[in-house]
Amino acid sequence: MTALSPVRLRVAPSPTGDPHVGTAYMSLFNLAYARQQGGRFVLRIEDTDRARYVADSERQIFESLRWLGLEYDEGPDKDGAFGPYRQSERLDTYRPHVERLIAEGRAYRCWCSAERLAAMRAEQEASKQAVTGYDRLCHGLTREERAQLPGFSETPVVRMLIPDDVDLTFTDLIRGEVAAPRPDDQVILKADGFPTYHLAVVVDDHLMGITHVVRGEEWISSTPKHLLLYRWLGWEAPAFAHMPLLRNPDRSKISKRKNPAARLLWFREQGYLPEALLNFLQLLGYPPADDEQEVESFADFTARFAWDRVNTVGPIFDLKKLDWLNGHYLRSLTAEQLADRIIEHLDYTGQPPLDADGAALLRRATPLIQERLVLLSEAMDKLNFLFTPDADLTVSADARAGLDAAAPAVLDAAAAALAALPAWEVAAIEEALRGALVEGLGLKPRVAFSPVRVAVTGAKVSPPLFESLELLGRESTLRRLRGLRAAL
Ligand code: GLU
Repeated sequence: MTALSPVRLRVAPSPTGDPHVGTAYMSLFNLAYARQQGGRFVLRIEDTDRARYVADSERQIFESLRWLGLEYDEGPDKDGAFGPYRQSERLDTYRPHVERLIAEGRAYRCWCSAERLAAMRAEQEASKQAVTGYDRLCHGLTREERAQLPGFSETPVVRMLIPDDVDLTFTDLIRGEVAAPRPDDQVILKADGFPTYHLAVVVDDHLMGITHVVRGEEWISSTPKHLLLYRWLGWEAPAFAHMPLLRNPDRSKISKRKNPAARLLWFREQGYLPEALLNFLQLLGYPPADDEQEVESFADFTARFAWDRVNTVGPIFDLKKLDWLNGHYLRSLTAEQLADRIIEHLDYTGQPPLDADGAALLRRATPLIQERLVLLSEAMDKLNFLFTPDADLTVSADARAGLDAAAPAVLDAAAAALAALPAWEVAAIEEALRGALVEGLGLKPRVAFSPVRVAVTGAKVSPPLFESLELLGRESTLRRLRGLRAAL
């Protein structure tokens, strides 16, 4: 790489299910550096594991990266001079390199059956051998020679011949000098003719001009194999950066089985804003500019990003921090923008769409909930009383239980005062209710307004009361006050 050549980075998810949050986390750091350096960010789909392939997964990867604004410059659904960007479409690209490695004695065919390999492994474990891994039974044998021995399979794999003096250390941009354990004779071409990850990643990163490989820490142990392949194929190796793994609060590696938040789509379903999730992922991998300043845009983060400041200790997924960030970003939207996001979220989660009147009502009601909203998904719950026909409104059991002896008188007085109001607007509503209940009945405000809130919203806690009544309208308000009164 010369000083002038632009950097090229990539994220390389495998489409094995709905996307992992780690894909967003890796993309974020890759993209930050690519943007800072004026380089390119590539999405490559690593779909060589046909047994684990899930058809819809790729589309979900595209969509969720786009939702987050982690826009790639090249990828399977984009143009680019280095395609195809799906490994399953590159099989012909890998084969000549495998042939060359075999011809040069760097790799060999292995016909050992799955049963033989399993038996070998079991024996190694039972005898607690220091050196485990493939025992090289096939090395140096022709097909005919090997076929004479037990545990033969017709379809061979190809294995790397790891030399005794393999270099196990490398320099990592985040961690400095890193040492990895000695690998065994890794398979690079499978019996189905597909390359394994190890071969495909090296060939593709080279041919796609990748200058920096940024990936999870779980790949550190693979890097010496990859460096060997670069050397054998006569290619300059890229720089490597291994990000710390995201961890559950019990410090285990975050997995979709154990933690719903390991699913990238979960955040969107829950009603987190993409900007809050980005900020959260940034903080997981990187210290804030100063301790107080945890809110930071992706652009500002990008400007101050440096590899040697990335955390090396596995960050713990603290959803309280994310909730706090989400509240912050929700409040920094205009009410109009927030209403748009709420509507988008209803649509995304497959709820029945609002009609034009409903959407207009939501827009007017959004300022009432903006201050205390944590998730987009809570918005309609908080405003549900506005969208429910009067006859269908149910009063929750705990709200009803909380009503005291003054409730009937309060509801009567409130209905009388509001029925007589000349204009239906918030200041007049407040004045009329204070006059009738606090002054008229001599009640403390909390006691005075609680039955009104319960009657109108069905709940003990609601958005600001007078504004809610204004939005609900006089007719519904009176009907609900009289309805609860009659039911007491
Ligand atoms: N396909 C690998 C994964 O799913 C990519 C690892 C790498 O970035 O080299 O994590």
